[in-house]
Amino acid sequence: MLSIGSCACSRRRSPTGDRSRSSTAPASPPAPAVERCTTAPRTSARAADCRSRVCVPSPAWVLPSSRLPTAQQPHDLGRTRRGRRPLVDRVSALRRDPGGRPGLVHELWCSRAHRDRPDPAVAPTGRRPRRTRTRCARRPRGGVRRPHGRRPDPRPDAHAHDDARSRRRAAARRQDRHRSDDGPGTVSTTEQIDVDIVVVGSGAAGLSAALAAAGEGARVAVVTATPLAQTASYWAQGGLAAALAVDDTPLLHLEDTERAGRGLVRRSAAEILVNEAPAMILALQQRGVVFDADRHGQLALGLEGGHTRRRIVHAGGSATGRRLVRQLSAELVGRPEVTVREQRRATVLWQEEGRVLGVVCDDGLAVRARGTIIAAGGAAALWSRTTNPPGSLGSGVLLAHGAGAAVADLEFVQFHPTAVTGVPGREGFLITEAIRGEGATLLDPAGERFVEELAPRDEVATAIWDVLQRTGAAAVQLDMRAVDPARFPNVVEALRHSGLDPATQTIPVAPAAHYVMGGVVTDLHGDTGIPGLYAVGESACTGLHGANRLASNSLTECVVFGARAARAALGEPAIDPTGPPPAPAPADDPQRATQDAMWRHAGLVRDAEGLRELAADPHPLARLVARCALLREESRGSHVRRDFPLTDPALDLHHAVVRGVEPRLDVWR
Ligand SMILES: Cc1cc2nc3c(=O)[nH]c(=O)nc-3n(C[C@H](O)[C@H](O)[C@H](O)COP(=O)(O)OP(=O)(O)OC[C@H]3O[C@@H](n4cnc5c(N)ncnc54)[C@H](O)[C@@H]3O)c2cc1C
Repeated sequence: MLSIGSCACSRRRSPTGDRSRSSTAPASPPAPAVERCTTAPRTSARAADCRSRVCVPSPAWVLPSSRLPTAQQPHDLGRTRRGRRPLVDRVSALRRDPGGRPGLVHELWCSRAHRDRPDPAVAPTGRRPRRTRTRCARRPRGGVRRPHGRRPDPRPDAHAHDDARSRRRAAARRQDRHRSDDGPGTVSTTEQIDVDIVVVGSGAAGLSAALAAAGEGARVAVVTATPLAQTASYWAQGGLAAALAVDDTPLLHLEDTERAGRGLVRRSAAEILVNEAPAMILALQQRGVVFDADRHGQLALGLEGGHTRRRIVHAGGSATGRRLVRQLSAELVGRPEVTVREQRRATVLWQEEGRVLGVVCDDGLAVRARGTIIAAGGAAALWSRTTNPPGSLGSGVLLAHGAGAAVADLEFVQFHPTAVTGVPGREGFLITEAIRGEGATLLDPAGERFVEELAPRDEVATAIWDVLQRTGAAAVQLDMRAVDPARFPNVVEALRHSGLDPATQTIPVAPAAHYVMGGVVTDLHGDTGIPGLYAVGESACTGLHGANRLASNSLTECVVFGARAARAALGEPAIDPTGPPPAPAPADDPQRATQDAMWRHAGLVRDAEGLRELAADPHPLARLVARCALLREESRGSHVRRDFPLTDPALDLHHAVVRGVEPRLDVWR
């Protein structure tokens, strides 16, 4: 049975700003997979008060052994007692990627740079947890051995730009290798595999879709462009929203989703999300995802902006995405019916007579399938100031649109209010909203609070923008000195690594592009309307998020709709192609000038003049965003139009949909 409730030590604040103690749900039987809330001694007077009354951390050694980390946990997968993986596992890890690239298993095993720090909750207080040695089954071909003694940089984005550069070079090298005689600039397909379902992307949406399809016995191929640690899913901090608390219901979750979405939420999609979310959390636990629990063994539920109840399920404090992705990918690579092809970018859809028959990758790999599922993530890295990994460039949206699929709501990009600014090497680093849920405040340059910190994101981001315009400051300050650092170990460690100690100083933050509400138009099963083509996750647009996504609804969407799309795609007929697959298309990465123009002209505050300039940009997605934004002559949700500062109620439920070149407004219910 699912264990529900709130962390006893957490402070709670209602959306109106009242702070009160959270209540603990009545005791219920232990959940299948939970771990203790990362409670540690507190520093502030306010927190000390909390500790003295309720929250004395119990040492890990009093936990029953069934609750201590087990071999099911990702970092322990497949180890023998001496800490070495069985040979058969290492061999199968190599076997999965005959192209000589590191497989998912290899990456899980070797990427010490992205490993979680030891969780304070599972080590006796006062003793350093024993460090486990990481063994590489194999180094990537041509890889460089790390100089002895040099420790990897723990920042999640430390090598992001290097990675992007080396990815581009590797893709160019691969294209050179397979250049055909068909003429300049063409690349022939070099290898073909036949499966039932091909999934493009290995974030939460792609992994969920692939696992659901494999669970039905289908042969599945996953092609994925970036390393595991470079997906938005891996970077997700806050958690997954689900109505699990005793004082919560799916209806309340629905109302919060609709309120945040500012009159544009498609109710049918939101209903599916809120109704299926609680069972989905249980299913993830049964898959071995270990969520944080309080000392009663009940799920610790966080509070984030726009939510009227505690309903954010999290793991490893603020390492939710990392834990989720690792567990799902570990299961995926262990399944015999799944083929994973990493560092391959799908550049064109294989299409005959309007039906999609698979994908072709940049290196010439062609994958033929009954169903093709685009799970290629969002596009927020198209804006120069972003919280996203560099690969979030909307390539899935462009692939589907190129095949004739409709795209919608591209004018709506969410600007996260609290991304670090002015700190070298940390530009755009996101500080999860859950920290404000635990009592962090936002201060203007005069040191005054100026906004209700737990209002929906659009409200907080706009309030910050106003302060910056009014005062000329580059940042407002996030004061999290009263927040227990042990609750958010990743964030605190990343900040300390950059020389900022959140326990003693405030953190400079400003809005950054974070999440694209728009994407490939789908029905409630991920169907794009193009035969054989499906889309899920941030690539898709069901209308669920309206004009402003409610915090932590995205990972939930990835898992819920990922599984639905997989089941629907399996109903597609197997069609034999009449001709060869198409040649791969050249990559269409944006120039820096495009990213700057997106920030300047399609930012939080915009107008027709800037958008018209953007509509002439060389990048196709920038042009689509500009056209949708020009059509919406009002201010709504995630952005403000200087020239149309009010919301037009006549445009409620109206979505800007692009089928060919020009968008038009359609009503969705
Ligand atoms: C810092 C940060 C924190 C966040 N925190 C939360 C949170 O707490 N809760 C929440 O609900 N949401 C959160 N979000 C949003 C959420 O993480 C994303 O919306 C969600 O993870 C998107 O998942 P996805 O599977 O659709 O895409 P991604 O996780 O981005 O994965 C996309 C995949 O597609 C691959 N890909 C892209 N193009 C191609 C191509 N052409 N060919 C092959 N592969 C391709 C990539 O390599 C990658 O594997 C956060 C986002 C960020 C950036």
